[in-house]
Parts: sequence; structure tokens; C-alpha cells
Amino acid sequence: MSLELAAFDVPMPDPTALVCGAWERAWTLPERIDVSDWADDNRVIAKGAGAEPGDWKTDRHPPLREIMNCLSEHSPVRLVDFMKSAQIGATEIGINWAGYVIDLGLDSMIVAQPVKDLARSWATSKFDPAIVEMPELLGKMATDNTLEKRYPGGTLWVIWANSSKQLRQRTARYIFMDEVDEYPRDLGGQGPADQQLAARGMSYGDRARIYRACTPTIAGRSAIDAGFREGDQRYYHVHCPHCDGEQVLEIERLQPNGTFACAVSGCIIDEHHKTAMFREVGHGGTARWVPHNAEAPAWHRSYHLWAAYAPLGLGLSWKDIADQRAEAERNPDLLPGFQNLVQGIAFEGARQEQDHEAVQALGEAGVHLGTVPPGGLILTAGVDLGHDRFFITVQAVGRGQRRWTVDYQTVDGDPTLPSGYDALDTFLKGTWKTVGGIEMAITAVAIDGGNWTEMVAQYVKRLVSQSGGYRLINTGRGYQKQTVYLVRGRSEKASERAVYRPKKTEVNEREKTIARTVGVWGVGGSVLKTMIHGWLSAAVAEKARAEQAGEPEDFDSRMLRFPGGHGGPVDVGSPDPGRLPESYYKGLTAEYYDLDAGTWIRPKGVYNEPLDTAVYAVWASLAPAVKADMIRESQWDALEAQYQPAVIGLFDQALAANDSRETQKEPTPVHAPTDSRGTQQVRRERTGLARDGWGL
Ligand SMILES: [Zn+2]
Repeated sequence: MSLELAAFDVPMPDPTALVCGAWERAWTLPERIDVSDWADDNRVIAKGAGAEPGDWKTDRHPPLREIMNCLSEHSPVRLVDFMKSAQIGATEIGINWAGYVIDLGLDSMIVAQPVKDLARSWATSKFDPAIVEMPELLGKMATDNTLEKRYPGGTLWVIWANSSKQLRQRTARYIFMDEVDEYPRDLGGQGPADQQLAARGMSYGDRARIYRACTPTIAGRSAIDAGFREGDQRYYHVHCPHCDGEQVLEIERLQPNGTFACAVSGCIIDEHHKTAMFREVGHGGTARWVPHNAEAPAWHRSYHLWAAYAPLGLGLSWKDIADQRAEAERNPDLLPGFQNLVQGIAFEGARQEQDHEAVQALGEAGVHLGTVPPGGLILTAGVDLGHDRFFITVQAVGRGQRRWTVDYQTVDGDPTLPSGYDALDTFLKGTWKTVGGIEMAITAVAIDGGNWTEMVAQYVKRLVSQSGGYRLINTGRGYQKQTVYLVRGRSEKASERAVYRPKKTEVNEREKTIARTVGVWGVGGSVLKTMIHGWLSAAVAEKARAEQAGEPEDFDSRMLRFPGGHGGPVDVGSPDPGRLPESYYKGLTAEYYDLDAGTWIRPKGVYNEPLDTAVYAVWASLAPAVKADMIRESQWDALEAQYQPAVIGLFDQALAANDSRETQKEPTPVHAPTDSRGTQQVRRERTGLARDGWGL
């Protein structure tokens, strides 16, 4: 096997990769060069810049070879995710790659850092000193700008990922994203910054090369952890120097004295074996990277490397690692840092999760989706936007702030077009029947401005002229006020309250001030999610207690209730339209609270619109148009007389008449004043319809 082939031809057990490799070899240009070979020939590490100044030797740190060579011009790999411990050479790979691209005059490159200061410091303390050591390369640089370096073939831009402007201005075929976990999770309402940047790179198709490197942070929101999982998950397999058993070095097998217990035969492996053990196939050794995820596309490789794989004499010794682990076990505050920085893995904090099946079991038989159950006196709605549809939750709220999920629907529409809101508007102007057959309109709507704030602002402006204004909805027997709010989630980790009034100005995704006139209301998402989580947990616990005690369920104690349709087992063949599908409950419970991070976490890519829209619907019930937490008993009485009158005898009727007199003295702020006597007549007429509402 020639050296040249071996450098690229690392063992790839999956057939796709083998075919790709063969195809690559068949088309090999004679002078093709790998990044690792280039580094061995050219790279010099400056004094003070690395632990070992002088000529770069890939043999000194063999696991880096394959990772570097994925970035070679002739490699079939487009995306490389390197999840790693601190100080394991990830940045050096980036510098070698940049040098290779510049020296060969290939194309333009972006190096992205989380913030501007880090971008500057990468350029001045890592890249520039490295280039100065390589006069030939230095001679190719046309400019001496810190953040923009031109060379024959392209430009190297050093950018920072927390600026939409920076992200938008630059595009390149080669992208090195350093410390991706520190990038904004949502930039300008367009999603995670690393994904925005990757999407731009991917527009080059097969020719794109993207290298993401990071020490992971918290599971569930770590970009590099997610990238690693999506990739082919390569681990560095080594052979035991005693029994030749192949294995991955795992922390569980590290002994307190700094030796590893062989995973195959239990042999004692001393640290001095490292150098020989880490040598790869084709380079005088037997170690190799092995993929553990056959599902990944061949162009997406992901690598994990942790501190135990540092070259002998560089970084932490095995004994150091064992000591740090002992320390972290004694002091749990050190554990996240140890797992991130030494093990190179995301920290799985303690979580508060909800089981979607337990919540689904809260569905109440005889209560049907689309009908307002007894007790529901005011309707609110929460709207979330997707690319081609709207997600809407309609909730009813009643005395004691009890809430019911009345409806959950998606409505098609393109949020980027004014006409895209037509179907949504028809929905919001609709009415929902109570069990007694009385039509109710939605009193307050909260629409998430999210990714299309300007367009939603225009829509809200058309309806109610400013966010928090109202329009009148015809219920068929009079008009009802409907207040519409343009809202946006507050980004801070722990909001202090649910409702925030609009700021004077709001900055849109293009960093322009917008919606000054419309007004964007703030949603304290973490407060509301914690509330909802608490309601559901309490209901699940109470249901379990009642079942155990053989007592009837106490539905009245539930703060958020769900329709269960006809009840009975789920028939997948003919789903009951009266109940919510399992996907709804999965979405409602998709997020969890990370106790260590102190924040709500939405696992990447999950469907969480049921939760978001429930949050907005609860928000709408607390907004000034409703203030469900401030409604007086007399006001509830009036609403009840209007919408949910009980089937009553003469005596009760007299009481109800008293209540309505009181109502006239104190008209509820929620609805346009209604003649209560007329209401009662309507009620009597419609009582006969009551059963229809249930039968649906
Ligand atoms: Zn062994």
C-alpha cells in the first residue's frame, strides 16, 4: 500500500464509503495532496503558540490525520463535526486547513468565531503567528487586514456568528466554525447561527467543505452534540498492547492510578503505551477511526476525541484525568465542566420531563374537541407560524383560572404574503359552541411575530390598527370584542413574569427598527412553560393517586383540561375527531426543564407547536383584554349567565336575575355589554340544542 493511498484510504467498513473511496481513487489527480501531508511539509508551529513549537508532525497526533484529510480538496466529505475535549488539536486542524487552502489558491474561506473579540484574537494570536512562520505562505497574502486576508484564489474572512450582518455578507465554499456551541441559538429569528452558516456553505453542493469543532456544552442544546449524532459517529479504536483486543478508551475503564483496564481481557494498560497504540493502520500501527452510525450520509462525518487520546506528554496525563474525575465526583459543581472539557461530551443535567402518555390520559371522555365544555367562559387563542401554515390553540378559561383546550388546528397559509393570512383570519373570526349550543368568539388572540415579525405586524395592523387593539366579531346574536396581540418570546433564560408591554422600538431580523406603531408584546415563555408544566404534573399525580385509592377522579382540581372524545381505547384506523392525536401530546411535552442549566430546553428539531401555542393562549388570557387572574366573581357570574347557563328551576332563575342586575352595574370589560334578559331568552331557546354539542 502506497503512503499516498494510505493517507486517504482509512478503513471504511460501510459499503457506500468503500464505493466512494474507489471512485475517488479512480479519479485521483497525480498531484493531489492531503491536508495532513501539506501540514507535514509546510506547517511550523510558532513558539508560544503551541506546546511543541517547530515542524508540525501528524504522526505526533495520529487521530487528527483522518479528520484533516476529510477537508482535503478531493475528499467526498462535505461536513465534518469534531466533538472534543479542550486542547486536543481542533484549532490546529483549522489552521492547517486554512494554510492548505491559501497555499493551493483554492477558493474563499470563512472562519467563524462566536463573538467579535474571539474573531480578532483567533486572527491575531493563532492565525497570524502561524503564517509568519511560513514565509512562502506569507508571501501569497495580498493584504494584511486582520479580519480579511486576500490571496490568489480567494479571501479568508474571519467573522463572528452573533451578527446577522456578518453572516449575511459572507459566503464561501470553505467554512470553519469554531466553538459552535457558543453561537446564538436563534439569530434574527432565522434559527441557529451555525445552521444558517452551514446552509450557505451547502449551496456549493458537493464542493462545500464545512468543519465544525467544539467542546460540547449541555445535552439537548449543544450544536456540536447534535452534529455529532447526525454524522457517522466515529470513535478512535485502539488495540490493547497485551492481548491485542480492539477497543475505544472509555472513562469507565480508567483506574484511579492512571492506567486503563483493557476492555477485552482486563489487562493493565500503562500510559507509555499511548504512542504505539495510537499509531494508525497504514502508518505503522493498528488504530483506526470506526463509524458507529450507519444511518448518516456518506458526506457527513463526525468524530469524538477526548483527553485520554492526547499525545504522550501533551495535555492531561491519564493520572491527571483520574484525579480530576475524583474531584468532580466529590464536588458535583465540577461535573459539567469535567464532562465537557475532559470527556468531550455534552452534560446531561437533571431534567424535569413530562411523559406524553400520562398527559394524554388526562383527556376526558365525553368532552369533545371543538366544543366549549361547561365552565369555559372566555376563549383565547395562541397562534404560531410555520413556513406554510399556522398552528392555533383555542383555550377556554373560567372561574379559578381553570382552562380547557377547546381546539388545536393547523391552517394553511404563507406568512410571507399578505393573502397568506386569509384562512387564519377566517379561523379567528369563527365561533365555538358551548355544550348548550351558544356561540362563543375568541376574546383575545396572541400571534407570534417570530420569523416574520414585519408581515405579522402588517396583518395585525390591518385587523386592529395596533397590537392590543380590538375588532368586533359577529357571533350571530351580537358582536363580541376580539383583541389581537402581536407577541414575541422573551429570550432571557428565566423570565420574571408572563406579560411584558411593548417596548417603544423593536429590532427586526435585518437589524432595522420596526413595528414601532404596531407594538410587540413580550411573552415570558419560561414562566408560562413552568406554569403549564406544573398544572400537568399536578393533574397526572392526582389522577394516579385517585386510581390507586380507587376514588373518582377530581376533574375540578385540574388547571388545564383536555378533550377525550368518546373515550375508550384509541382506534388508529378511525381516529376519534373529538380527541387530540398523540402527536399533539408529544408536542405539548416536547420541552424539558434542565435543572442544572436552569432553563427550558427544546431538543433540536422537535415539533413543539402544541406547547408554544398553549403558552400564547394562556398568555392571551393574562393580557389586559382578559386578565383572567383579576376577574371578579360577579363578572364570572355574568359570563356564566351569558354562555353557560345551567338548566335551572324557578328558584335558580330568580338568583340568575339578581346576578344579571349586578352585571348591569359592573359591566365586564371582556365583552361588549349584552342585555342579560335577552341572553337568558336565548339561553332558554338554545337549551334544546345542548345535546347536539355533546354528540359531535
Ligand atoms: Zn488486553
